[in-house]
Amino acid sequence: MTASNPLYQALFAPLSGQDRPLLWLADGRMITAQDFHALLARLANVLLDQGVAPGDRVAVQVSKSPEALALYAATVSVGAVFLPLNTAYTPVEIDYFLGNATPKLFVVDPETAPALAPVAATHGARLLTLSGAGTGSLADLAAAQAPVFNPVSRMGDDLAAILYTSGTTGRSKGAMLSQENLLSNARVLADLWRFGPSDVLLHALPIFHTHGLFVASNVSLLTGGQMIFLPGFDLEQVIAALPRATTMMGVPTFYTRLLDDPRLTRDLVGHTRLFISGSAPLLAETHTAFEARTGQRILERYGMTETNMNTSNPYDGDRRPGTVGHPLPGVELRIIADGAEVAPGEVGVIEVRGPNVFKGYWQMPEKTREELREDGWFITGDLGTRDADGYVTIVGRAKDLVITGGFNVYPKEVEELLDSLPGVLESAVVGLPHPDFGEAVFAVLAREKGAEVDLAQIRAAVAERLAKFKHPKGYAIVDALPRNTMGKVQKAELRKTYGAEFTAPRG
Ligand code: AMP
Repeated sequence: MTASNPLYQALFAPLSGQDRPLLWLADGRMITAQDFHALLARLANVLLDQGVAPGDRVAVQVSKSPEALALYAATVSVGAVFLPLNTAYTPVEIDYFLGNATPKLFVVDPETAPALAPVAATHGARLLTLSGAGTGSLADLAAAQAPVFNPVSRMGDDLAAILYTSGTTGRSKGAMLSQENLLSNARVLADLWRFGPSDVLLHALPIFHTHGLFVASNVSLLTGGQMIFLPGFDLEQVIAALPRATTMMGVPTFYTRLLDDPRLTRDLVGHTRLFISGSAPLLAETHTAFEARTGQRILERYGMTETNMNTSNPYDGDRRPGTVGHPLPGVELRIIADGAEVAPGEVGVIEVRGPNVFKGYWQMPEKTREELREDGWFITGDLGTRDADGYVTIVGRAKDLVITGGFNVYPKEVEELLDSLPGVLESAVVGLPHPDFGEAVFAVLAREKGAEVDLAQIRAAVAERLAKFKHPKGYAIVDALPRNTMGKVQKAELRKTYGAEFTAPRG
């Protein structure tokens, strides 16, 4: 009898023995459903051989590839917990993740293996390698394995993945996601957005984040569709692939980059039935410009690592620019200010509840209690409003998050590093409007009395410690940060003062 493993059964078992295209790669290769299932089975057998047991974490920091996606599938299938890490993270950052998650296995790119081997050893994780081309020690072990395997039994409530979010205190928190969290959300989205076997999804998102890994891949796998699986957002590759795509999921930057290219026309996307945007606010003007150019109204949705997706604009009804639509079926949403639900149009903190909401933060019960109420409501930290028609609009982030090119940066983490550098008394990091990235990280440094601040030295220290997307794209040096009477740094004032830093015409 086949063991019960809801995600395996819904997403991966149906691929077995199916001689149909599943993944189209940038180099022209095609991977069939059965090839992918065989890869999953070989990798799963390696994991079992390596002693990976149900509940063990398998940490992964590798380039996007079919093998990397199959490793996610294999991990879930052996009942272990998939823990993908942003490829931009430095060894200093990785040290924290491995220390917190104590994975049994850590899979890295062969190129970064020398730098990461000591980190893995410190935390007792075995190290295997996998390159973007599908080579490495993991691939070698997989090649020697049988392409068949029986999934390990798991319940819907068991963990399938831990995805780290940046923490407001500068420390990332591991969001624990169960099989049911992922599966229920994939089912609702597939239904709402009408995904089916004839769909070809243009997949140019990273697969270490909820958007590319769960929203895009799970929905496509669940519904028997195909994916054009690109290593990242390369404008040439995306434009070449669009005529074959029926759907695309992207962050707003994808859409602004496409709009900057005259080759984006109604004809180019004549075959595409649905464009979806999320992970950061899509400017209403981007929505309008995209429609004017292509005749297509981008469907914007809203979600986060901890909750999967929460709201979506309608498939058939009015997709309203600047809004994130209605709560998904089965997801409750309320907007709270001063302990009570606000009236339509008023701003408050968005809270959500439903089968999509995570199980808490890995080994951080007190953080979990702060954000996840006992009765199941999760305090998102996003500020929003809801109009009389029920459309939700995100108006800001209580948590002060900066989203740059779809990546989250918590100012506190960057500030802590800057504050520790020579000549810097204190710092404030804000997100400023940027034409390409949506927001760009900007740092205001208050110098120590009489000290000189050496920006070259600061940039070098930042480059050594932080992932590139967190690096400030601009700096200002001041004598003192503006503060209110409560002693709080007035970031709104900084945003006003430096607001045109990246958007004002130069010269
Ligand atoms: P992450 O956990 O990386 O997915 O980031 C989640 C955060 O991204 C949310 O809490 C929101 O602040 C933001 N976000 C996601 N989708 C949208 C959207 N459509 N509009 C505005 N903000 C969004």
